[in-house]
Amino acid sequence: MNIETKHDIGNTVYFIKTVSIPTIYQCNMCLGEGIIYRKDNSGIECPKCHGNKTYSDSGSIKEVVKKGIIDHIEINIDNKCNLEHKIEIDICYYIENDDIESEYVKYDEIYEDKLYDTYEEAEKHIKKICAGYTS
Ligand SMILES: [Zn+2]
Repeated sequence: MNIETKHDIGNTVYFIKTVSIPTIYQCNMCLGEGIIYRKDNSGIECPKCHGNKTYSDSGSIKEVVKKGIIDHIEINIDNKCNLEHKIEIDICYYIENDDIESEYVKYDEIYEDKLYDTYEEAEKHIKKICAGYTS
């Protein structure tokens, strides 16, 4: 049985990923100085931002277009729980993760219908989701 895949190993593809973007605030205790001054003008490290001058919270969830190269493809064939004996094929693409912060996850697993050839095509789908939230 030959299964046609829309994309091949080594292809560059685009997909949508949900990420959390931290919101960075200027520290309101030291007013962005990083140091708190005592009455005698000696400074101590700000206890709120620990001298970083800013602090961040978990921020907002946002969808972004990511670009990646297909490392390998996994094909799952499921013909068990289907009354019409129609064979269902799930094609899952493993895309190498270039995020430095998520070092534990080496690959993003994306199904074929969530994979796009161009940045513009992927971006269109983000807008659709966002429009659904606001209206
Ligand atoms: Zn501070």
